[in-house]
Amino acid sequence: MSAELKERPEAKASTEEELTDGFHLLIDALKMNDLNTIYGVPGIPITDFGRLAQAAGMRVLSFRHEQHAGNAAAIAGYLTKKPGICLTVSAPGFLNGLTALANATTNCFPMILLSGSSEREIVDLQQGDYEEMDQLAIAKPLCKAAFRVLHAEDIGIAVARAIRAAVSGRPGGVYLDLPAKLFGQTMSAAAGKASLLKVVDPAPQQLPSGESVQRALDLLKSAKKPLIIIGKGAAYAQCDDVVKTFVEKSGVPFLPMSMAKGLLPDNHPQSASAARSLVLKESDVVVMLGARLNWLLSHGKGKAWGEPGSKKFIQVDIDPREMDSNVEIAAPVVGDLESCLGVMLESMGGNWQPSNSDWTKAVNQKRDANIAKMDQRLGSDTSPMDFHSALGALREIVTARPDAILVNEGANTLDFARSIINMSKPRKRLDVGTWGIMGIGMGAAVAAAVETGQQVLAVEGDSAFGFSGMEIETICRYNLPVCIVVFNNNGIYRGTDVNPTGDKDVAPTVFVKDSRYEKMMEAFGGVGVYATSRDELAKAVNKAMDSGVPTLVNAIIDENAGTESGRIGNLNPQSVVKKK
Ligand code: ADP
Ligand code: MG
Repeated sequence: MSAELKERPEAKASTEEELTDGFHLLIDALKMNDLNTIYGVPGIPITDFGRLAQAAGMRVLSFRHEQHAGNAAAIAGYLTKKPGICLTVSAPGFLNGLTALANATTNCFPMILLSGSSEREIVDLQQGDYEEMDQLAIAKPLCKAAFRVLHAEDIGIAVARAIRAAVSGRPGGVYLDLPAKLFGQTMSAAAGKASLLKVVDPAPQQLPSGESVQRALDLLKSAKKPLIIIGKGAAYAQCDDVVKTFVEKSGVPFLPMSMAKGLLPDNHPQSASAARSLVLKESDVVVMLGARLNWLLSHGKGKAWGEPGSKKFIQVDIDPREMDSNVEIAAPVVGDLESCLGVMLESMGGNWQPSNSDWTKAVNQKRDANIAKMDQRLGSDTSPMDFHSALGALREIVTARPDAILVNEGANTLDFARSIINMSKPRKRLDVGTWGIMGIGMGAAVAAAVETGQQVLAVEGDSAFGFSGMEIETICRYNLPVCIVVFNNNGIYRGTDVNPTGDKDVAPTVFVKDSRYEKMMEAFGGVGVYATSRDELAKAVNKAMDSGVPTLVNAIIDENAGTESGRIGNLNPQSVVKKK
């Protein structure tokens, strides 16, 4: 315990048997609910909270920036189905963490952001407190629920509400506002203990109606060219066997969304990943399992989806409001995925006819042809490396190490890796998610290592890496088994843009040429490798993954190799006006 803490009267009181305080009540409430890991950044007014939580046996992981602590908490939530806990200081720290909280909510990941805040009386009268900000009001529209706790005796209930809000129904982010004064409030230890609760059944089963299941199965039965799309909600649900049984019993080709890759292995005979354009266009009935018809699926309409009106949708989702969000859902099945698929499987009975063989044959043919084409390119050994030669090497490594977790962000680095690197187990791929944001990399890598104990491989564009790169110190500090590969092509999309004015500034998308990212890792005691060939890359990554030592491999990629915005160039408006 710190000297400062011992001198504080209210904390001293807490060591006397009959009193407890806000610090301890919050720690006890979290622990009682099996929330034993905190991702955060210390500072006023939560520094001692972190110390005391660690002293009480919680794992308290300090980051260099709150956004990455928040991204770690969100990924912890995704991997464990328990809310990940992020802890930040007031105002600026809170705002930094808020980006991650909003991102978690968008992605349906359960997390709780605990933020210290300034004195209510001063904030509300806007009298200029230290880090004054009305944090609760700001958090509210950006998360699933937001609460403020003013009295120590309410901490137990507040934590319970936060847990329920985060994990029940569609999961998401919750904000808990903790004014500095709360921590020091004392109360009788016995009353304090009685005020805490362990949440019973925080994410209750949600059974679908029999009618909705029948409607869905009737539609599926009528399909000539059915397709199943599996999203990260299905991966989150952790009912992997039920999903596999449903897909196999139906015989329907499936398409995994990127974070659902591996829920069924990418080399599964029904996988249609490599025939994506064909199945989206030609299918007549599409079954959505924990996936949304958002921008990542062209909103379920337009050219990619073939003739207008050619499709009917079955959607299985825990959130009734997701139905008809973009197109008409002919057969909504609302409930948790495990319950829904359970009832559907039961109703399918013993003699369900698996999907039409002409359709599946056509899909498989297209898929196999595309895979053969891709395989040719992946074998290449160019110098300098391009995306295909480098990812060809990494693909073999991931296939040989199915338990490792792959973190992936960037533009081209993301798009190519997503289609090239096969996953064979569920929840092994963590990426930019629903928003397609940069900056999740190191936060996700830390949480993946901490929550699963598995080796992590983070495949990062050089630009993407920059957003959270300082967290390699965090990775070294906790000695986490993380190997980062930076795909270094000297810039954003490409490193070849030039400033047309001839001025001394380089183009806005260009970085320092031949940056030595591996030396950053060495600065913190990790291993740094400069890799210019496929062979050097493979050797370094294998060595890192065998040893578990924090490693950064600076993989030198041809600066001409990328394309503008990767595969979503259509979202990046370009001027057609020529100025003299
Ligand atoms: P993807 O990006 O992979 O398409 P999304 O995050 O867009 O996936 O969609 C996930 C969907 O899964 C959300 O609509 C969410 O409501 C839903 N979902 C989350 N958990 C469950 C669950 N346990 N059962 C059913 N649906 C779920
Ligand atoms: Mg780049």
